[in-house]
Amino acid sequence: MLLERLSEAHGVSGREEEVRSIVLSEIRGRVDDCRIDGVGNLIAHRKGTGASSLRVLLAAHMDEVGLMITLAEDSGLLRFAKVGGIDDRVLPARTVLIGPKKVPGVIGMKPVHLTDNAERNKVVESRQLVIDIGASSKAEAEKLVQRGDTAVFATRYRSLAGEGSAWRTVQGKAFDDRVGCTLLVELLAERFPFALSAAFTVQEEVGLRGAKVVAYAENPDAAVVLECTGANEVPTPLDVSPSTRVGGGAAITIRDTSFIADPRLVELFASTAHRLGIAHQFKQPNIGGTDAGVIHKSRAGIPSITIAVPARYIHSPAAIMDLRDFDATLALVREALQSLPQALSSQGART
Ligand SMILES: [Zn+2]
Repeated sequence: MLLERLSEAHGVSGREEEVRSIVLSEIRGRVDDCRIDGVGNLIAHRKGTGASSLRVLLAAHMDEVGLMITLAEDSGLLRFAKVGGIDDRVLPARTVLIGPKKVPGVIGMKPVHLTDNAERNKVVESRQLVIDIGASSKAEAEKLVQRGDTAVFATRYRSLAGEGSAWRTVQGKAFDDRVGCTLLVELLAERFPFALSAAFTVQEEVGLRGAKVVAYAENPDAAVVLECTGANEVPTPLDVSPSTRVGGGAAITIRDTSFIADPRLVELFASTAHRLGIAHQFKQPNIGGTDAGVIHKSRAGIPSITIAVPARYIHSPAAIMDLRDFDATLALVREALQSLPQALSSQGART
């Protein structure tokens, strides 16, 4: 299954090549042309039916948050820096895979027997942590791992809950945003009224960098960003409203911290979901950010929206999502795009 392969692929920001080659092999044959640009974005084109003269960009980022090796200590232990937003609290005692050789390692942690109460109640900062690959010296470590190699959490994709469960939950790493990449590959099997630019972007997690280049080069008339968004359902006495809910359907973004969605596109996606009875929800406004943050303010301004599959525990070693939400999101984007040209021209046209 493509989502499983993409979830297990390594693609920390700046090192997206493994993800890109999987995507490339999947979309060849479905697209009219494709190219890899100067920063590593994969951009494919698919002609439309000719009914609309618009050019629409669909974007999903290939990169994931992870770690970068900065130094091997004399002891053979490895120092590292975070790449993208990772909470220091999720790091200690995790297993990781490093570099192109996928060298296994463990993020070292003092055993409980040796820590006092004060230490146990405090978060250890990532710059005080090391990755242990079992090497006995710096020289031995450097035979296996180079400075600048990136590390991902060693998480396998698997189904949870099993037969008879109402939810089709799966667990894996990097659902943010291999889910979007999988959706985009699926959507490339469709024919839309407009010419489609499909961009698999790089370096979203370190500042929406690849998307900036894509938006400039493609200069589309509208953009839809396909994402995996956090479902904050962990109970808290301060705030009981989740950002999104797993099992609640496709999450439509009205506003996040990076942009405000074009209201005509919000209306298009919401009314399409209503009309066809597709499960959907509105993401709690003003949380997170996506590639739409740079795309919408590129060139002369590009009407943009983000549609996302919700997942719990994103940016951690293992996230959990419901495949029914994936199916709802795919159905919603596929259907809504058919009416996108009308939504942008007549309905709610700017006056
Ligand atoms: Zn993302």
